[in-house]
Amino acid sequence: MKFCIIGGGVSGGLLNRTLTELGHDLTVFDKSSFQMRSGFGFLLLPNGIAGLKELGVWKDVEPFCLRIRKVNYINTSGDLTNQIDFEEVYSISRFKFLEALSKNSTQVVEDLVKLSKTGDFIVGDHTNIPSNSFDGILGSDGVHSNTRAYLNNNAENQETATYEVMGVVKSDFLYNMLGNELHKYAIADNGLSMGILPLKDGEIIWYLQVNSIDHGVPNRDRESLIKFLKEKVGDCENPMIQALLNSNIETTYVWQGRTLKNVSCLAKENIFLFGDAAHIFLPFTSQGTNSAIVDVALFVQHLKSGKSLPEFAHQYSVERLAETNELVQSGVNMMHDFCFTDFDEVALKMPITILK
Ligand SMILES: Cc1cc2nc3c(=O)[nH]c(=O)nc-3n(C[C@H](O)[C@H](O)[C@H](O)COP(=O)(O)OP(=O)(O)OC[C@H]3O[C@@H](n4cnc5c(N)ncnc54)[C@H](O)[C@@H]3O)c2cc1C
Repeated sequence: MKFCIIGGGVSGGLLNRTLTELGHDLTVFDKSSFQMRSGFGFLLLPNGIAGLKELGVWKDVEPFCLRIRKVNYINTSGDLTNQIDFEEVYSISRFKFLEALSKNSTQVVEDLVKLSKTGDFIVGDHTNIPSNSFDGILGSDGVHSNTRAYLNNNAENQETATYEVMGVVKSDFLYNMLGNELHKYAIADNGLSMGILPLKDGEIIWYLQVNSIDHGVPNRDRESLIKFLKEKVGDCENPMIQALLNSNIETTYVWQGRTLKNVSCLAKENIFLFGDAAHIFLPFTSQGTNSAIVDVALFVQHLKSGKSLPEFAHQYSVERLAETNELVQSGVNMMHDFCFTDFDEVALKMPITILK
């Protein structure tokens, strides 16, 4: 079959790899090969890992993963308030994840493309292809998806009150102290916490979760973000946080929390949505990547069963909406707890939404 994949990130990359291996004819667009690979990393949870195994790519991804054994919660006094063991959770850098998938994939064409208003053409700066030259249009065009807007006229993408300032550092001292564990620190009683997560090969992701109502929003340039980080956590005596502040923080990024409204259709006829184009999770759940993987696994499962896309579009949409709506809601509840409940109470709950 002939497919057009819009977006080459997590879901687009996975579609590209799997459908190429299955012998389909692909045209894959990404607006920027730099943006496609940028971002820091994520936790792979049991549902995402099961999807990767089902798709037959886990063997290529696993060598780049670090198994995370537990999460530790530390309160504002520096006391360990909770510790949760993980059965099957791994951290991985986004770059390495996409690199692992790129083996046996179709080359990506760099262009910002979208479906024309009538849906008759895929148009971009260098592209103008009739949509009916493809058997399927696979929208994996991320948070600001145009494909989503095409299928859901009234879709609204709204900012939430929480965001994360984050980055990656390399520090042997900190890496050795972390072990294979995720550490979460309460910086204020509510609305401000810090996470430190080791990746494979000495890299470390740090993220400051912030409730903007209480703590404001800094400018997004690197200097302002580092100043903000130091202002917020500089007084914290914890040796891990101090080691982080003393390391060379080169990269910073703001991940704004978002929710979607009025999205009721994830697939119609031969147009399908995947990943953030289909659903947006708050960072608390760690489900963005994992659910994107599950989307692709379900799509491929249907395709392999020999059905045509229009035959399973409705079922795909209903099934994925039912599962992800619950996960989205769990993120909203966690955000509420994070903003308005004492950290110790939040620490008793699972920080991420584990789904087997
Ligand atoms: C900084 C950052 C940190 C994150 N950390 C975590 C985490 O710790 N845990 C977690 O589970 N999730 C995390 N996420 C979310 C996670 O990366 C996404 O949920 C996941 O990547 C979803 O995959 P996707 O394919 O839908 O989107 P993406 O991986 O974002 O890919 C979308 C792709 O589409 C391309 N694109 C967009 N529009 C167009 C267009 N019109 N034409 C062509 N190409 C287009 C973009 O360039 C991009 O490459 C993070 C996201 C960011 C940005």
